[in-house]
Amino acid sequence: MKLKAKFGISGSFSRLSGMLIGLAFALLCSLPLAPLDAQTADAGAEALLIRDVRMIDFSGAAPAISDGVSVLVRGGNIAAIGADAETEAPDDVRIVEGNDRTILPGLYDMHVHIWDEAELGSYLAHGVTTVRNLSGMPFLLPMRDRVEAGQLAGPRILTSGPILNGSGPNAQPNHQIVDTPEDARAAVRTHFETGYRRIKVYSNLSRASYDAIRDEAAALGMRITGHTPEGVREPGMPQERPFNIAFDELLDDDFETIEHVESIVWHGLRNRQDEDAARALAQRIAAAAVPVDATLVAFANLYRVAESEGAYLSREGTDLLNPFISAMEAPQYERWSAEDAERAAGQLAFFQTVTRIFQEEGVSIVAGSDSGIFTNIPGVSLHDELDLMVEAGLTPYQVMQTATVNAAQALGEAERVGRIAPGFRADLILVEGDPLADIGVLREPAAIIANGRFIDAEERAQLIEASAQTDYDRTAANVLAALAAQGSEVPGQ
Ligand SMILES: [Zn+2]
Repeated sequence: MKLKAKFGISGSFSRLSGMLIGLAFALLCSLPLAPLDAQTADAGAEALLIRDVRMIDFSGAAPAISDGVSVLVRGGNIAAIGADAETEAPDDVRIVEGNDRTILPGLYDMHVHIWDEAELGSYLAHGVTTVRNLSGMPFLLPMRDRVEAGQLAGPRILTSGPILNGSGPNAQPNHQIVDTPEDARAAVRTHFETGYRRIKVYSNLSRASYDAIRDEAAALGMRITGHTPEGVREPGMPQERPFNIAFDELLDDDFETIEHVESIVWHGLRNRQDEDAARALAQRIAAAAVPVDATLVAFANLYRVAESEGAYLSREGTDLLNPFISAMEAPQYERWSAEDAERAAGQLAFFQTVTRIFQEEGVSIVAGSDSGIFTNIPGVSLHDELDLMVEAGLTPYQVMQTATVNAAQALGEAERVGRIAPGFRADLILVEGDPLADIGVLREPAAIIANGRFIDAEERAQLIEASAQTDYDRTAANVLAALAAQGSEVPGQ
């Protein structure tokens, strides 16, 4: 008997304030930790036959579109496509009538910050089936395993270790500070032993510390990603004096990705809005084959707060932000509410121009949102990022490549994730309308399939609702445990 499924359709962590940490620590000492609720979903256990869908493949220079396709999903993988899917479907398969909707690979968000498990639902509900978290904390590792085992609904989680930085003007309380090569090597080894497989580096690492990190990571088979280290920041940088480490030097260091166009303009262009220099830089990055994670939305949201004099901070959807982090961001909210919006608009326009130039010159761009800090809403911000890239002049097709095949390629998993083909991981989204004409149709998927598990419109709505229930005390516990594990001082103690 084939079961007919009802297919519903629906329409910076910038500066942790020591005072707040102290407050959180006091709360932590006085309150019992909230128990983790273990859901017991049977992820991937059910076979799914998705019929009559329009399928887009993103692996070529132009879209490959197939109409009226069937896709068989089994055991968390794509088992077969087309006629094979129909013949290989088991008797008890769950059938999903696609009714000519478009099916595409689940989206990657290559730059997020997760603070609490409640945030995961918002990513998944917005079609994000893989996140790369870029400030590692110990709680993320068991959480990642619970998601993969189907015990917790969320995107697949990849994470770096804690952010490694040197002492200096941009060191933040959640950074792990390494000021000597010995400390740097020890930190990398500890990250490896803890279970991390990628290192996040930050701007103000000294040359000696950075070299030690790079060499130790390479010896352990770990990737490096992050803000390109520039050495200790001194007065006159970036325009009047050279950086201790030139941007160019890092292009041969096999970064998984380089983060933030904003940072590339700072370090690579010495903060000059020079399109010819940007094009020359793009050619060097393309030749080195280093992917760039643009994160335009991170700066766009700063601009929008300035432009609205703070009103943007309470727009619809901000209930999905973690209140613990929002409390930490209060000084930044205040600062950006009073910033010069016209100046910020000019900077944003240049960052978009640079992104377009990178695409034109063959740089592989990946999609990241910096969600989880400032006012960057999990899941939603990835779509804001995609819109900003279209606005910059990339085609919707090129933009969807940034969130699918380009990301998979950067992560070295292009043979397993990011496409719809037999043997690939069953991370998929079904959408109404044509995303090649209007990328906005990706915002509210009609259904999501995560590691083979089908999420319909009703469950999608529940995920969003649950995502607004972020646990303040659990978040505080997560952050404090992370600071303790990386040997950072916990202020207020
Ligand atoms: Zn970030």
